[in-house]
Amino acid sequence: MQSQNPIFIPGPTNIPERIRLAMARPAWDHRTEAFEAFFGPLREDLKTVFGTEQGEVVLFTGSGTTGWDVALSNLLAPGDRVLATSHGMFSQRWIDLARSLGLVVDVIEAEWGEGIPMDAMESALAEDTQGAIKAVLAVHNETATGVTSDIGRVRQAMDQQQHPALLFVDGVSSIGSLPFHMDDWGVDVAVSGSQKGFMLPTGLAVVAISERAEQEAAARTHPRGHLDLGPMLKASRANSYPWTPAIGLIGALRESVDMLMEEGLPAVYARHTHLAGGVRAAAEAWGLPICAKHPALYSDTVTAIHVPAPHSAAELVAHANRRYGVSFGVGLGPLSDRVFRIGHLGQLTETLLLSGLATAEMALLDLGVAIEPGSGVAAAQGHFRAVIAESQEQI
Ligand code: PLP
Repeated sequence: MQSQNPIFIPGPTNIPERIRLAMARPAWDHRTEAFEAFFGPLREDLKTVFGTEQGEVVLFTGSGTTGWDVALSNLLAPGDRVLATSHGMFSQRWIDLARSLGLVVDVIEAEWGEGIPMDAMESALAEDTQGAIKAVLAVHNETATGVTSDIGRVRQAMDQQQHPALLFVDGVSSIGSLPFHMDDWGVDVAVSGSQKGFMLPTGLAVVAISERAEQEAAARTHPRGHLDLGPMLKASRANSYPWTPAIGLIGALRESVDMLMEEGLPAVYARHTHLAGGVRAAAEAWGLPICAKHPALYSDTVTAIHVPAPHSAAELVAHANRRYGVSFGVGLGPLSDRVFRIGHLGQLTETLLLSGLATAEMALLDLGVAIEPGSGVAAAQGHFRAVIAESQEQI
């Protein structure tokens, strides 16, 4: 039996009641004027979430991985070179997918917990005087380590070298939760999925394409199968679909975007920062280090927290689930038994998050990890109340 508790994994996130109800609507015909009237405004509002006026947003049935594939297979052909940083499970998986498509990947290796190393990025671009690198792949928020990289700086590095590569950004665990400025950052393809900041079940790859990327994709002649952007963009512009859309999810995406707009994107981002501060305060009070190496890299959507040896982070997550019916994120790859992750994105409140922190605290104590009982919850409460006191002073 599924627990009634909220989940604290970094996606899928908790699904708000409004969205669950929206998914319960009867089947709907997508070949209708009603769908066209519905789809146009939704696409416009999605552009706002991505921070683009000049780009187009398309919805492929699939997940974040599908979005990676859309970027790679439309704009690059086997043998093309790309530049990417490997600094966590997801940045590495994108590299693996690129290689499986026959691309040649220049990899900048960085320690897990680090962000995209700008010096190495600049040098790699500077050395490429012939412009052989066709695209830079950048993960905005590395969900495996809880690290947010500065995409504006990546663009700056590219501009400083006057490098013509396209910029592809994975915003799977950032878009809709952290500020994302596709146009300002000169992003050519931005990828997200329905199950993170959009608070839906998995099933949609939400992808934004710049004008330049669209033109370049259209100019390429290699075969690209069913993820071809050409027919998708053409149909989308007519507020229609080249095949059967995931209509239930798309209907509910309207509700999700409405929720983001009603709260206001700046308020959504501020709430994520506020809640993340509470989680970090708890980790500090427990005396457990955070995986992200510097405060400037701390993610406001997910925090990976080290569990000291000989305790097992995997056992901690399994125990919390078995004993308390609460899910935390497991550690991935080389961090699999060393960290557990608290997802704090989507529809969360201070109260919900405090319940997660209290549960993590019980699970840590059950396993014999030497933490002060109540210390993490008290620190998070202190953080939440201090922020509230500060804002009241300003009133
Ligand atoms: N990129 C990031 C940053 C992710 O966190 C994930 C999944 O968690 C993915 C890509 C892959 O997305 P999906 O699992 O939806 O295919």
